Amino acid sequence: MTRGIDDALSLIRAWRDQYAAYETAASNDVDDAILESAWVEYSERLRRSYPFFHPDYAGQMLKPPHPVAASGYLAAMLINSNNHALDGGPETSFMEKEVVQDLVQMFGFPLDDSLGHLTSNGTIANLEALWVSRESGSSLVLASEDAHYTHSRMAGVIGVPFRAVPVDHRGRMDLDALGRILGSNDRCTVVATAGTTGLGNVDPIADIVEMKNRYDFHLHVDAAYGGFFRTIIDDSSLLAEDTRRHLDAIAEVDSVVVDPHKHGLQPYGCGAVIFRSTSVAHLYKHDSPYTYFTSPDLHLGEISLECSRAGAAAAALWLTLKVFPLTRDGIGRILADTRSAAIEFDAAVADSDVLRMAHSPELDIVGYFGVGDSSEVDRRSHAAYTSLMDSDRPVFVSLYRLGAPRLGLDGDGQVRILRSTLMKPEHRRHVPFLVDRIERAFSSQSA
Ligand SMILES: *Cc1c(COP(=O)(O)O)cnc(C)c1O
Repeated sequence: MTRGIDDALSLIRAWRDQYAAYETAASNDVDDAILESAWVEYSERLRRSYPFFHPDYAGQMLKPPHPVAASGYLAAMLINSNNHALDGGPETSFMEKEVVQDLVQMFGFPLDDSLGHLTSNGTIANLEALWVSRESGSSLVLASEDAHYTHSRMAGVIGVPFRAVPVDHRGRMDLDALGRILGSNDRCTVVATAGTTGLGNVDPIADIVEMKNRYDFHLHVDAAYGGFFRTIIDDSSLLAEDTRRHLDAIAEVDSVVVDPHKHGLQPYGCGAVIFRSTSVAHLYKHDSPYTYFTSPDLHLGEISLECSRAGAAAAALWLTLKVFPLTRDGIGRILADTRSAAIEFDAAVADSDVLRMAHSPELDIVGYFGVGDSSEVDRRSHAAYTSLMDSDRPVFVSLYRLGAPRLGLDGDGQVRILRSTLMKPEHRRHVPFLVDRIERAFSSQSA
């Protein structure tokens, strides 16, 4: 980490030294004592953060950026270019175009006929995909009951009705239900999820692609979480046959979203949307009285709903992909570890008298609960969640709510279970420790 930070600072120093010396303004100066006390308070506040970096943190989708991404980001952030237009950041805009090409290649989209750009996050990336599909004539948005809630919200924002498609017991879109809706509606947008936020399930994308022979619809894949698993798609010891087939079929869809700030080792502020045809560019058409003057080349603001965007986000991803390319031996090394952690967690729970899986994991997110009386699952999950955190050495997991029938439990209400995103490669070695602590949290509960 230190090496990278030092490199970033010396790069910036050398860059600044190329320009003429000038006198700095006193209004920018700060009082040392004030700064010092602000910094003390700031440190106290930040030290209260959850330890996202540590393998004891196995809760939500959170981890710090890789040191390579952090140092790349720091250097470019100190320059602070804006990838809205080439006027605001030529070099980081070129880097953005290059990393988007890398993502196009990872998804198997046509290399010279795809259009894409980075966004602030997955929410905005998905909004753009839904907006483009509406502009292309779609009048209903469909996503599974387990899809991210952003799809129904953003359908509201763009003024298009939304319908949730039921899922099977493993949280994957029900194809019969989808067929019935497609058969009785005009052109729809189908959002298939590659790696649900809840339990990392992959919708049957290959089968949905086939349904295009029968129905006319825009097929968008929300691979915000799962997209990078395409780097380990050839490894049948890591991914199930079905999962591989459906991730593979992303190459055939109309648009896709991925979040480099989830499994792409980046700090927050980095999503991406890609369309399989450059023909959508005209939908974004607008004029700017302020920018787009420096070059006749494409300014990224001309194909993006957002205006200002951090050039640093593109630069950090560019540097990261030089070191961890989008291959099995690059970023795939890390995903192989996180996926193995989930496989090993699943096996450990199968051997446990205390725990049961919601179902076996497709990617690296696991859902589990305490064996016992159905009516107690919800209460016991919450109690275990709290006791794991309230300990001398806290273990952080998260809660997830789903319908009781999905777990084979009595009743038709919603129950909370525990969920762990095993997204750090260190989680792999940590599985025995985590499972042991979680088992003890359940077995020590009073009846
Ligand atoms: C995280 C996530 C989103 C939302 O993306 P943000 O980057 O949090 O805005 C959308 N869909 C899926 C499947 C996600 O995992």
